[in-house]
Amino acid sequence: MQNELQQKNNAHHFQPFSDNKALAEKGPRIITNAQGVYMYDSEGNKFLDGMAGLWCVNIGYGRKELAEVAKEQMNELPYYNLFFQTTTQPATKLATKIAELAPAHMNKVFFVGSGSEANDTNFRMVRRYWDLKGKPTKKTIISRKNAYHGSTVAGASLGGMGYMHEQGDLPIQGIEHVEQPYWFAEGNGLSKEEFGIKAAQSLEAKILELGEENVGAFIAEPFQGAGGVITPPDSYWPEIKRILAKYDILFILDEVISGFGRTGEWFASTYFDLKPDLITIAKGLSSGYQPIGGVIVSDKVADVLIEEGGDFNHGFTYSGHPVAAAVALKNIELLDSEGIVSNVKASTSPYLQKRWQELAEHPIVGEARGLGMVAGIELVKDKATNERLESDGKAGGVCRDFSIANGLVMRPCGDTMIISPPLVITKAEIDELIEKAKKALDETAKHYGIM
Ligand SMILES: *Cc1c(COP(=O)(O)O)cnc(C)c1O
Repeated sequence: MQNELQQKNNAHHFQPFSDNKALAEKGPRIITNAQGVYMYDSEGNKFLDGMAGLWCVNIGYGRKELAEVAKEQMNELPYYNLFFQTTTQPATKLATKIAELAPAHMNKVFFVGSGSEANDTNFRMVRRYWDLKGKPTKKTIISRKNAYHGSTVAGASLGGMGYMHEQGDLPIQGIEHVEQPYWFAEGNGLSKEEFGIKAAQSLEAKILELGEENVGAFIAEPFQGAGGVITPPDSYWPEIKRILAKYDILFILDEVISGFGRTGEWFASTYFDLKPDLITIAKGLSSGYQPIGGVIVSDKVADVLIEEGGDFNHGFTYSGHPVAAAVALKNIELLDSEGIVSNVKASTSPYLQKRWQELAEHPIVGEARGLGMVAGIELVKDKATNERLESDGKAGGVCRDFSIANGLVMRPCGDTMIISPPLVITKAEIDELIEKAKKALDETAKHYGIM
């Protein structure tokens, strides 16, 4: 029997990334409140949120300082825009703070409302850049299969998700996809490092196929998030760097998940020693407390777009919204002053990764991998052959349901189970996460008659 709110939800609410018909039959879970790494539903169930919402609640739930700053800003100035030669104090202060933390060659920030809008902005900046450089044919952006870059038309096109492309005839023209560095699924007998080189070289092959004069940029996540926490082999990024240095194309690093501490560095460009021309940010920027995103622009790109470009005819009503910007600024200040990011690097991420490797011993786990505060495991029937439990990637959903029933939010990507907990998670809470994950694996194995 569904409660009144669930019935209203079924009648009136069309929800994102959901089979709304199937959802109406069972009724949605209603999340009511949260504190630290835990959240609660309307039935009184408690969950350890192993996904930090959607990879975003880096600082954890329930930080009163962020609520206070939002209230103060709403009373002071609830809204003003950044168009037509005006700014607000929070937007300018936030841009300054981000530039301070960003790689040294990146000093300008363009604000938007989300990660998708940020990648749409990248799409337009890249095209504008090459027009201004007098190379208008350099318009194609190369991305990777199984990438996630958002859900707007450009974002979904830049992404490499087949299940998104098949709805609405995507990708749009001018976007191409090359191989992803997913060794577990696609390694095909190569060593990890050989495969990393091979996956990277698919970028070079594509540049040569299209002609360098037609390629504007390459976009990638430092590690794929929604694709299944795919951490590239060590050989991958150095080879990509070699290729990017050889051809005159821009490099967009989508740090919507990896930014603001998830790797133990402020940006994964530091973690992987990359030198992007544009960085996409959102999610952890405000720890999800307010919707805000942005593009961090390198001096190289800013010198063209700003110094030579005149008006940039692009922006959003809520670009750098003052309440969102004030909250994001406070969020970053707390992540910094409380040593949350440095503690991830020095203490909690090594601990999480060490304990996560214990899962590799489990009879239905073919690989356990991760870095910083993200991790994934591959569910298999046979550890020797990596044969899957089911042919259609449904075992992940089974494992997720057991995990949720045990009070841990883990997310399935096909038969890959992933986590990305709040950065404030303690070692004791990591222990709880691992125990609950093991229990979910045991129950999944039993379900398939393996244990
Ligand atoms: C979530 C995500 C986006 C899209 O962000 P939205 O705020 O949902 O539009 C883009 N890129 C990556 C890597 C993401 O994880």
